[in-house]
Amino acid sequence: MRLLVVEDEAKTGDYLQQGLTEAGFLVALARNGLDGHHLAMTESFDLIILDVMLPDIDGWRILQSLREAQCQTPVLFLTARDSVDDRVKGLELGADDYLVKPFAFAELLARVRTLLRRGVQPAQSDLIRIADLTLDLPRRRVIRAGRKINLSPKEFSLLELLARRQGEVLPRSLIASQVWDMNFDSDTNVIDVAIRRLRAKIDDHFDPRLIHTVRGMGYKLDADAGDETH
Ligand code: CA
Repeated sequence: MRLLVVEDEAKTGDYLQQGLTEAGFLVALARNGLDGHHLAMTESFDLIILDVMLPDIDGWRILQSLREAQCQTPVLFLTARDSVDDRVKGLELGADDYLVKPFAFAELLARVRTLLRRGVQPAQSDLIRIADLTLDLPRRRVIRAGRKINLSPKEFSLLELLARRQGEVLPRSLIASQVWDMNFDSDTNVIDVAIRRLRAKIDDHFDPRLIHTVRGMGYKLDADAGDETH
């Protein structure tokens, strides 16, 4: 998912760029209105985070211009004051949501995710998302709830396999052949050990649990597995 952040305040811009990058997004940062407007008109983004108070061309005018040009990218605008007039103006001009500064990053992230869910499917097929877990396949990075998680290469491969086939129960024999390139030997518990390690890293301190054991069958990765598994 590509986001554009238009923010002239250096500290806020850096903070947003860093936080959103860590949450698994690709982030372009424009530090003034004209650059932001230019980027929004010439490149494609899944969401634009737009500060209203910019020194050269303000957020209202950027938004108005984008909507006039039939650019329907969702826009979350940032206002300094919680004024009803500002909110109404933004929404009338075609903004999708707004946040009043100062805001908590978690709040911004929640709004961003909601707006993105409403929109089109990701253009980036190299990211896999399950609940608040993101796998960045080309960079082999895993982020859960905004936190980077360090996995060994085997653990990453195991998670990638489960994630690519999320919701499916994968038998141990399939996991053994795909991740370890070996035939499943019932005497070895290498897969169970690896699953336990992976769980400790991606599931133990988070909710919901994503890795599920399906007795007598195998494992699956699922954000919404109900009670039949544990
Ligand atoms: Ca500003």
